[in-house]
Amino acid sequence: MDNLGALKRDSIRVAGFYSLSDREDFQQYAERILNCSGHFDFRLEPGQVDGRMFAHIQRASWCRCRWCPLCQYARISKFRARNFKGLTRLMADNPDLCWIFPTLTIRNCEIGDLRSQLRLMSAGYHRLVRTLSRRPWLRGYLRSLEVTRSELGLAHPHYHVLLLVSSDYFQNDQFLKTEDWVNLWRRSARLDYQPYTFVRKVFSRPHQLPIKALLEVIKYSVKPADLTDDADWLYELTDQFHRQRSLTVGGLVSNYVSQRQLDKIESEMKTGDEQNQDGLPCSLHWNYRREKYDFCWGALS
Ligand SMILES: [Zn+2]
Repeated sequence: MDNLGALKRDSIRVAGFYSLSDREDFQQYAERILNCSGHFDFRLEPGQVDGRMFAHIQRASWCRCRWCPLCQYARISKFRARNFKGLTRLMADNPDLCWIFPTLTIRNCEIGDLRSQLRLMSAGYHRLVRTLSRRPWLRGYLRSLEVTRSELGLAHPHYHVLLLVSSDYFQNDQFLKTEDWVNLWRRSARLDYQPYTFVRKVFSRPHQLPIKALLEVIKYSVKPADLTDDADWLYELTDQFHRQRSLTVGGLVSNYVSQRQLDKIESEMKTGDEQNQDGLPCSLHWNYRREKYDFCWGALS
């Protein structure tokens, strides 16, 4: 269940931060987040990945605020389900392709400069893809945007990318060493310093999904701990991150995972397959006095 109780407590804290602001839109966020998911109906079924029980949420009153930790968790679950399904088909159709896993960073910035830095990164990434598309091995990508908060309150935006490549990439004349990636990213993002950049090969058997790497790529845009530390940082993040995509696909990947679907999950948190009837019905109800969810077998509503 990924500790929904802890996420609900984080959500209440985020709502508390918004309620301290004089801004009307932040006051509205506070009210919506406070009322988020007081009750869940879900079904427990054996997971397809490693046999653990998997909670398939059927009904919850999501507030749909971007920085509600509960809703962020729900979005990630839906992103993962959508991607696992699409990429499983991709790997079955293209067993000869594999993945590499670059992380592209820029220097930490003031949270008030985040929007302009994200613009710079996005333009840099498109230039990088354009450069790489001249190589015979690049087939597609899945890219996520993450922002972490440093101890000094600076923002650290970075991309986690799963690049789909053909085996040509690993031939001597095509293979890019770490320093090549650093220089490529530096040139593409037009930086005047050497950015911290590293690349890993993703190990997975033919036909199989790179589960571990996927879990690393499809995760929080901002960790709940960073949302609940400083009210002013949260306010600035809310304005600076407005309308940013957290997950982007391109090339062959977009034939199997549609960007439109990902955007729909991001904005509406809907995948259309919520009414699954498999598994055991259960529910959770938030107990305000004990500050935890009470678990019940069977659906209450
Ligand atoms: Zn919410």
